[in-house]
Amino acid sequence: MSGATLLKESGPREVFCGLTSIVWLHRRMPDAFFLVVGSRTCAHLIQSAAGVMIFAEPRFGTAILEERDLAGLADAHDELNRVVKNLLARRPEIKTLFLVGSCPSEVIKIDLSRVAENLNIELKGQVTVLNYSGSGIETTFTQGEDGALRALIPLMPKNDQKKLLLVGTLANPVEDRLTTIFHRLGIDNVESFPPRQSTELPSIGPETKVLLTQPYLTDTARELKSKGAEIIEAPFPLGVTGSTLWIQAAANSFGIEKSKVDIVLNPLIDRAKQALEPHVKKLSGKKLFLLPESQLEIPLARFLSNECGMKIVEIGTPYLNRDLMKVEIDLLPPDCRIVEGQHVERQLDRVRDTSPDLVVCGMGLANPLEAEGISTKWSIEMVFSPIHGIDQASDLAELFSRPLRRHDILNSKTLTSN
Ligand code: SF4
Repeated sequence: MSGATLLKESGPREVFCGLTSIVWLHRRMPDAFFLVVGSRTCAHLIQSAAGVMIFAEPRFGTAILEERDLAGLADAHDELNRVVKNLLARRPEIKTLFLVGSCPSEVIKIDLSRVAENLNIELKGQVTVLNYSGSGIETTFTQGEDGALRALIPLMPKNDQKKLLLVGTLANPVEDRLTTIFHRLGIDNVESFPPRQSTELPSIGPETKVLLTQPYLTDTARELKSKGAEIIEAPFPLGVTGSTLWIQAAANSFGIEKSKVDIVLNPLIDRAKQALEPHVKKLSGKKLFLLPESQLEIPLARFLSNECGMKIVEIGTPYLNRDLMKVEIDLLPPDCRIVEGQHVERQLDRVRDTSPDLVVCGMGLANPLEAEGISTKWSIEMVFSPIHGIDQASDLAELFSRPLRRHDILNSKTLTSN
């Protein structure tokens, strides 16, 4: 590993829970339904995070645990069975039903795996019922996707065909562009997981080479490996360098010559570097502090320091998977400080002490920091924005240069009005 300093911290946390990932997963797999087994708080979170869908039947909902359930007076398993059957009677088009656990369902110990197992026997042929945890007790928001994908893996058919499997949710147009690049390199068999339909799961076997698109898929990667797949070691496809190395790693693993890779990628790299220039001017030399939330913090810091010239004060990350992050950490400047876990009060003290120009953080911390005159960027925006790939590098940089420009405009207006 590089000379980065790795530290651990624990204490009060300020992160979104894993339920939040339903917001992008339900868009990715429109034939699936996500039923949160939780409280009214969970229902409010998911409704406000996703926005109320007025024109379409929503593809998520909450089976609300009432006080009787929480007090153990009702059999929550029976209640849940009843809710699921009502839902499926109304919505026969649902092909995969995810029962998503929450803090309340875990506290009163509802066994969602047992509920799913019984429903699968009863509803065989109609729908597949899976379960995973989105509880905020232990997880941060991107781990919801990790849990959902892991739950799907046992359903993947076995196959010995050589293929490249892109793992992690991408925006559809970004996925199309990346697939086209791999096709141009001569890798014809490229599939994605999760797929665009929950029932069209890719097959897996010893000839499957997995290229992770997101850094937060620890459990999914481990499970895919246990099915015989090979995980290609690479940085994540953020920024020009990260995306180039990511594509090159796949090409190497398929025995494609570097000269062929250069012919395909060099024009994209030139164009992307040019598009980056105005953002580099704005970001270069500015101090950046990343608070832990999305697990994208290390690849983002690598891009913003190496390609945009930002000075990294601290990289917070909720969890650090040293195996998946090794290549990324090796690419960081040697004096970086990485803090795994969170003690939010101490971290905020360090933010104030170091006066960064920009803080990447959760929505709950952004407003108070902005009120103190510190520019912020919500980390959750990174999972909703199409930021992967060489040609998306300038859009990614713009997510960080925009708040600095806004800060300048607001300051100049304040000065003028004074
Ligand atoms: S799962 Fe837990 S953290 Fe998430 S909304 Fe429900 S109660 Fe809150």
